[in-house]
Amino acid sequence: MRQYHRFKQQHPGCVLFFRMGDFYEMFDDDAQLAHKVLGVALTQRTEGVPMAGVPHHSVENYLRRMIQAGYRVAVCDQIEDAAQAKGVVERDVTRVVTPGTLTDEALLDEARENPLAAIVFHRDDHAALAWAELSTGDFHVAELDPAGARDELARLGATELLYCETATGEPPPRVAEFAQALGCALTPRPAWQMRPDEAADVLRRQFNVAQLAGFGFDDNEPALAPAGAIVHYLLETQATARAHDNPDAPPATATASANSKSEIRNPKSLPHLRPPRRFTRSAHLVIDQTSLRSLEVERTLRTASVEGSLLGVFRGCVTAMGKRRLRHWLCYPLACREPIEQRQRVVEALVHDSRFLDELRTALDNVQDVQRIAGRLAVRRALPRDLVALGTSAAQIAAIEHLLAERPSVATYHERAAALSESLQQLATRIGDACVDDPPAHLREGGLIRDGHDAQLDECRALQRDSHDWLARYQKQLIDDTGITAIKLGYNKVFGYYIELSAANRDKAPDAWTRKQTLKNAERFITAELKDYEQKVLSADARAVTREQALFAELCELARRHSDALHAFGELVAELDALACFARRAVRGRYVKPTIVDEPTLDIRAGRHPVLDEMFGDRFVPNDVTLGPASNPKSEIRNPKSPTLALITGPNMAGKSTYIRQAALITLLAHTGSFVPADAATIGLCDRIFTRIGAADELHAGQSTFMVEMTETANICHHATKRSLVILDEIGRGTSTLDGLALAWALAEHLAGEMAGGGARGGAGGPRCLFATHYHELTALAERMEQIVNLNVTVREWQDQIVFLHRIVPGAADRSYGIHVAKLAGLPGPVVARADELLSQLAVSHDAP
Ligand code: ADP
Repeated sequence: MRQYHRFKQQHPGCVLFFRMGDFYEMFDDDAQLAHKVLGVALTQRTEGVPMAGVPHHSVENYLRRMIQAGYRVAVCDQIEDAAQAKGVVERDVTRVVTPGTLTDEALLDEARENPLAAIVFHRDDHAALAWAELSTGDFHVAELDPAGARDELARLGATELLYCETATGEPPPRVAEFAQALGCALTPRPAWQMRPDEAADVLRRQFNVAQLAGFGFDDNEPALAPAGAIVHYLLETQATARAHDNPDAPPATATASANSKSEIRNPKSLPHLRPPRRFTRSAHLVIDQTSLRSLEVERTLRTASVEGSLLGVFRGCVTAMGKRRLRHWLCYPLACREPIEQRQRVVEALVHDSRFLDELRTALDNVQDVQRIAGRLAVRRALPRDLVALGTSAAQIAAIEHLLAERPSVATYHERAAALSESLQQLATRIGDACVDDPPAHLREGGLIRDGHDAQLDECRALQRDSHDWLARYQKQLIDDTGITAIKLGYNKVFGYYIELSAANRDKAPDAWTRKQTLKNAERFITAELKDYEQKVLSADARAVTREQALFAELCELARRHSDALHAFGELVAELDALACFARRAVRGRYVKPTIVDEPTLDIRAGRHPVLDEMFGDRFVPNDVTLGPASNPKSEIRNPKSPTLALITGPNMAGKSTYIRQAALITLLAHTGSFVPADAATIGLCDRIFTRIGAADELHAGQSTFMVEMTETANICHHATKRSLVILDEIGRGTSTLDGLALAWALAEHLAGEMAGGGARGGAGGPRCLFATHYHELTALAERMEQIVNLNVTVREWQDQIVFLHRIVPGAADRSYGIHVAKLAGLPGPVVARADELLSQLAVSHDAP
């Protein structure tokens, strides 16, 4: 227990998994927690000390559940053979597992990145953010305002956030609020690790440079503070993993010293971590947290599932790296034309050549997650199957290079593949020559290295294999020498090899034999010759395993030397796979290539909602969108005055929300380089997509629905530019009718650009805006402002039923629809008549403010 408490103290804030024989045990509060989180039985070790344990062979599963529940775990292993131990078995913490520092395949979701982030607030209006992906080595820093920092943390999907510890021990309110909104774990860190000078120091040491200017940073730059904290934390949590390649063979001298500066001096720690790169928000289409959620880019609002989201439509990636890249591209659409068009060219080539597409996907299909494997190699947690997967994956470079050759549309990809080809093929050959195709789960019993690869290993194996023959020969010799025909040879763990005589022959044993054991019906003996042989065979076993471990370590080292090539290969494969997925979707969904222009145009012909289109098939009614400078003279809803704001009216359930979301999703997709679900589309580059879409069933902590609605609306007013796309659904619904109407009216005027100067920034004219509203009165605005156009959703009456045609047409909706629907629903005649009468009176009173 003293040993236990020592480790517990060294790892504050961690649950300690303490290895005892075949179990990892937890004590005291940790045991209670394990009981609650993992559902394992609670027992007592000694009086009053609660204890709970999990079997060692399924520890990964329990670790995953602990991490998912937001806890950090320090894994304490036995680092000497318990049989040899004098007194208490020596133990040490061999890894610290936290939500943001995972590398093991079993603990990670292959389709998502798993970034660790750190935040430092400089002033009230300024936040420095850094994030790193330990499993691949990507590292970024950004300087943002606090709202921007939260939006970026959300789009990153950060799983753990480091912040500067406070005197109270509680996270500052702003940090706590971030963590709650993002659902990530919070980890306090010592203040000294978050100072810019300390950060610059640790970064210089980590990347072995005299100054950071080479990476584009001034020394002591505030933006570096959180980056330094990340390096400290990674070194600390990975400190012990460094000492060994095989997690089954714990290090002889593990060093687990939390908060120790000495760890950082080891130049070989985290060799795969790349120098931080500055993240520039304007290089991407900005999508804030609200819009990311309400557009259901990654997951649905209602069930938080990928199925039914935009990402769910793009399921065709064949590699884990492609899946992650696709998610990234959908969350980070591009903001410049050239890189978008580069992606489009590849997608187009694949769309037009189905054989090329099929062959490329087949070649990629054989590539495993080389980036994460390279990450595990770097932190020395690679398994035999990782190495073999690396070999077979690297071998695919030849096929990929061959496929890309002589196709102008993918020339840059071909160049990238060609540059890697030689180095990867060498690695593949070395691994393929050495390792079996079907590797063992661990190296405890060997079995990874092929026969014939290593003379020393072959010799040991020959000894093991031939033991059967040798024993048969020895048995025959004994029978010949003694004349006893009933001699048996056997083996058990206690005595090793032995000779067995039946009770009847027991007295015929030669004197040279040593009696070892007397059983009821038999007598067991050993001879010097037999023991010699046993020694040779058994030591051969151990020597074989040691030799295999050495060869494995050598191959891991070789692979580590190829880490840059492996990373570049991973990038290449991820991009090609994501592009192939775009192409496959384009073919299957009959998508078209959008024309990207610089003018703030939005011109979509027969556009479809990507998710509903897939679900409904031909039943989905396509619709046009035309805003901003017209680009398609044939468009039905074309207005020569080129309005920027469309007011969409129509009864509930007609399809207004679907229409405005579809416009936003098509715009977003166009910025990723994907084709879009439409007959034709011309999309002007956007800087930001804003949405204000009420989610009726959402609960906002401590804020009224109306307050949230207005906060989001205010954000739009402050930040929308002429290059933005704004979609608004039912603004004003959260308050009384007249308040709501007045606010919606003023907002429409503002966004249409009438309130020039104080209004939307970026010169004359407002952002492209789709405004769905049930306030029929607003439609009058179109007559006064040429920037506003009225659209409505057609509805037909058929056999006393309302039929929604979901077709968007120019003009305002028939204002009596609400009352009409009520009539059809069976509201009594006098009530309907009275409502009609009231409507005309009310209309007079607020038609013209
Ligand atoms: P509103 O916002 O006008 O209340 P929604 O956009 O929520 O209406 O649409 C209601 C339902 O109508 C959707 O869930 C969908 O099933 C159907 N729908 C909407 N637009 C279309 C369309 N273009 N084609 C086919 N069905 C549609």
